[in-house]
Amino acid sequence: MLTKATVEISVRHLVEYVFLSGSIDVRLNAIDTMHEGTKAHQRVQRSYGEQDRKEVYVKADIRVDDLLFAVDGRCDGLLGTEPMLTVDEIKSTGGDLDRIEGDGYAVHWAQALFYAYMVAKEQEQPSMRVQLTYVQTDTEEERRFVREYSYTELEEYVHEVAARYAPYAQQRRRHEQARDESIRELAFPFESYRAGQRKLAGAVYKSIEEGVRLFAKAPTGIGKTISTTYPAVKAIGAGMLQRFYYLTARTTTRAAAEDALLFMRSKGLQLQAVTITAKEKICFQDVVRCEKEHCPYADGYYDRINGAVLDLLEHESIMTRAVIEAYARKHRVCPFEFSLDAAYAADAVICDYNYIFDPRISFKRQYAEQKKRTALLVDEAHNLVDRARDMFSAELSKAPFLALQRELKGVHETGFRAAKAVNDYFIALRKRSDGAPHLVERQLPDELVALAEAFAAAAEQALGIGIGGLLLDTYFAAQNFIRTAKLYDERYVVYTELSKSDVRLKLFCLDPSHLLRHMGKGYRSHVYFSATLSPVSYYMDMLGAGEEDYTLAVPSPFSKEQLDVIVKPLSTRYNDRDESKLPIAQLIKRLVGERPGNYFVFFPSYAYMNAVYETYMELMEWSDSGEGADVLLQRPDMPEEERDGFLAAFQAGNERSLVAFAVMGGVFSEGVDLAGDRLVGVIVVGVGLPQLGVERNMLKDYFNEQGKSGYDYAYVFPGMNKVLQAGGRLIRSETDRGTLVLIDDRYLQPQYQRLLPEEWKE
Ligand code: SF4
Repeated sequence: MLTKATVEISVRHLVEYVFLSGSIDVRLNAIDTMHEGTKAHQRVQRSYGEQDRKEVYVKADIRVDDLLFAVDGRCDGLLGTEPMLTVDEIKSTGGDLDRIEGDGYAVHWAQALFYAYMVAKEQEQPSMRVQLTYVQTDTEEERRFVREYSYTELEEYVHEVAARYAPYAQQRRRHEQARDESIRELAFPFESYRAGQRKLAGAVYKSIEEGVRLFAKAPTGIGKTISTTYPAVKAIGAGMLQRFYYLTARTTTRAAAEDALLFMRSKGLQLQAVTITAKEKICFQDVVRCEKEHCPYADGYYDRINGAVLDLLEHESIMTRAVIEAYARKHRVCPFEFSLDAAYAADAVICDYNYIFDPRISFKRQYAEQKKRTALLVDEAHNLVDRARDMFSAELSKAPFLALQRELKGVHETGFRAAKAVNDYFIALRKRSDGAPHLVERQLPDELVALAEAFAAAAEQALGIGIGGLLLDTYFAAQNFIRTAKLYDERYVVYTELSKSDVRLKLFCLDPSHLLRHMGKGYRSHVYFSATLSPVSYYMDMLGAGEEDYTLAVPSPFSKEQLDVIVKPLSTRYNDRDESKLPIAQLIKRLVGERPGNYFVFFPSYAYMNAVYETYMELMEWSDSGEGADVLLQRPDMPEEERDGFLAAFQAGNERSLVAFAVMGGVFSEGVDLAGDRLVGVIVVGVGLPQLGVERNMLKDYFNEQGKSGYDYAYVFPGMNKVLQAGGRLIRSETDRGTLVLIDDRYLQPQYQRLLPEEWKE
């Protein structure tokens, strides 16, 4: 029977914690962790005799002081050998078997010994044989190590190992008790609910309770972060959840989630939350090179990580980037890997979508039981459609293979030949294209997949002897390509782009809904929310909703009087852009003259923006009104400080008006909060349609074939989403007032009008 002091844990989890040691090495990790449970594994199991069993589920209770460890796992093989049974633990690797030191690794022995103990206990065996089988995935070479143990030895051993986990388990237990008590006492952290807030919070709680998905259109101003996190925290207190993930694509929304948790902490909540920052951003080194020879935070990482995590969890609750960095420096551990390791213990994890949905980097050590008690809160979920397409697509280019062919010549013969074979494939593809700039095909290029597999195998050998750099990057690209090829079905298309300098072949995921469903499978509940989840049927379709799932549309808490909407029916279509420049520039000038203040003007492209900007500047130069305005112009790839400076120019007390030219779908059109007089007007030029292009047209054709409106799916819905986001910058609080100008004649057409929010319609 389970008591409060029971620790349910898998053998693997337990031994990995206790026996962690060594350094981070991205080359070796790549090789050694890719092949769990793959063909090589099964090949060994196929060689078992009739009396042998494979994948045997075993469990046992192990008491250590006042803790009861309920340990379970699945042993690869239980062989009916005489005079004693043998537990076989298989480990497959792409590396060289000669690299294995002594008679195998302690962590592998520990896993096997636990299984042997469990079998011996259950079947009352006085002694057991324990075997480690290492298998090389490509050469099929095998190395075996065997030991024998009495039952007493096994029993002593597992108790000793479990005792080493106990301090951590005790700490978790203490924390969970304090956490649950604090949650029981936690009231909604504001004096009252704002309009719509109670409805959203209630729907989130109900969805978690019932284990369904919720698709919520939650407008700006209702406090959606607190309305989603508060019920999730309560669900932890009620025992429904063990953890929730707050998933978001941007730093500012990540900070909003941290603020909400900090605010609840100020009201007594004792919750542990970890924020994960991208590796490239949080890395302490000038160059991200995760090898012990190049990075002191990688060197010996696993020897120090348990102490670092214990220290962090003992003293901190809301573990923001700054907190993670401080402890990472203190314990000299890589801040990125440290945040991942801490996340496995946390009650809440704030991170990007890809840690859940992207098969390349999603959390690997999550067990089915934990997932069942985990909820996903997906903020700004409208962004997930295109992000998911990227996650599930993969491409290979000719150029790196040509470069590697040259680099490996005379250095690594197998690698050289494998890289050359891929390069040759692309040369043949170029010939076949007959000068066409692109090809669109339905058939998966099996030959290229096989060549990529051969390349990956050769690269593993080369990585094993220390070759890195371009080889490692190309190896990852090949692995991603191979993985994606396994997902390839009728929802994909093969798109090849050919230029003089390169050939790029992409397995392009057109409809990510089923893969999102697959990656999100097993989690108790998903809450997708955004101010612009509109039309909700489109997002439900693209994000993999089922019939049992809920939708919710919370009306805007702001009054129509706060917003003055003007539609200027001008054509902004591509062919009319030259003609439209002057009237748009004149409109900006007139509006700013009549209603001084700070303005954003959003455009569908940089080219269009620059053209109108120049016209506007000329107009201002010739203007004799004497009333100028300060002007800002967005540039592609602006560094963070420049972006901050751009937004800092929006001050309520500016003496002169400010006109900021920016693009829709860019860094300034989403997640920017300029309340009060910091922003008095937004002008949106066009209906935001993505540029006509081959990929967008492939989407259009695909959805037309599916009997849906392909043009809407590929162009109109994503485009109008950008418009809604851009326009949504204007009214951020009950006291805001402002002017919204929509420039395009299509705003008068029903097809576009129906996508506008109610408060924009008059
Ligand atoms: S600090 Fe940077 S280079 Fe070092 S292991 Fe971490 S991410 Fe890699």
